[in-house]
Amino acid sequence: MNGLPARRLLLVHAHPDDESINNGVTMAKYAAEGALVTLVTCTLGEEGEVIPPGLAHLAPDRDDALGPHRVGELAAAMAELGVTDHRFLGGPGRFRDSGMMGAEQNRRPGAFWSADVDEAAAHLVGVIREVRPQVLVTYDPDGGYGHPDHIQAHRVAMRGAELAAQAAYRPDLGDPWRIGKIYWNRVPRSVVEEGFARLEAAGAEVPFPGVASPDDVPGVVADERITAEIGDEGTGPQGAGGDGAFAAAKAAAMRAHATQIAVEGPFFALSNDLAQPLFAREYYELAAGRPGAPAGTREQDLFAGVDA
Ligand SMILES: [Zn+2]
Repeated sequence: MNGLPARRLLLVHAHPDDESINNGVTMAKYAAEGALVTLVTCTLGEEGEVIPPGLAHLAPDRDDALGPHRVGELAAAMAELGVTDHRFLGGPGRFRDSGMMGAEQNRRPGAFWSADVDEAAAHLVGVIREVRPQVLVTYDPDGGYGHPDHIQAHRVAMRGAELAAQAAYRPDLGDPWRIGKIYWNRVPRSVVEEGFARLEAAGAEVPFPGVASPDDVPGVVADERITAEIGDEGTGPQGAGGDGAFAAAKAAAMRAHATQIAVEGPFFALSNDLAQPLFAREYYELAAGRPGAPAGTREQDLFAGVDA
């Protein structure tokens, strides 16, 4: 029906760049395999800090022009991943970046954090009923690390999935659609520890002034909680950029978010200039739906067990 591809993946993120950091490998893989990959980004990331000195004037306390600039960065990142369906929740600029927890910007009219969850979720229902994804990827209830927009993106994604399935809810937004599987972005603790050990071993060769800590990595959980793992065939978790085609696409997509991310080989840094390992494999915890792999093993395909 409608000529939609057989497999359809929806990702909901808070800001431009979150999708490439969390899911770049996964998005590149499914796009390459002919699945419909739909990205919904909830804000333009207007409150971000700017890394390149030449673009410092874009910052919110100066020209406040970072949002439109990041629309362009996101488009370039999606070109690297081969993803053509990317949208902003309610249209570009409908919801504004809320800044960090406790920031005054949280309460500004239009801030995503102060938006009504059901009202924001209605925008997502329209997308879900249009593209009818079997799989949804978003953050855990803490947004991975407590950023207000990430927490809100989680709430809106989960509520949108629930409302989209209800026949009585807003029939004007399309026929009801039930998403088969919902995943939260995760990183297994052992992978994070290995990654930081690698950073430590690189010592003075790490091309950033400082090193982040494992606590700076969002969504870290005990290895046993990971239910799915996606990566280039035959490659390990460490060192995106050279391991395989999808890992290389992820590194290129992250590089496209140049106001937010500096990528150097297998490491990257955000505006705090602290090096982090760039992971070439991505990990998920199934939050809703039936697992497509035997208990105690990890799925190698987010669509495992879903009906096309
Ligand atoms: Zn973010």
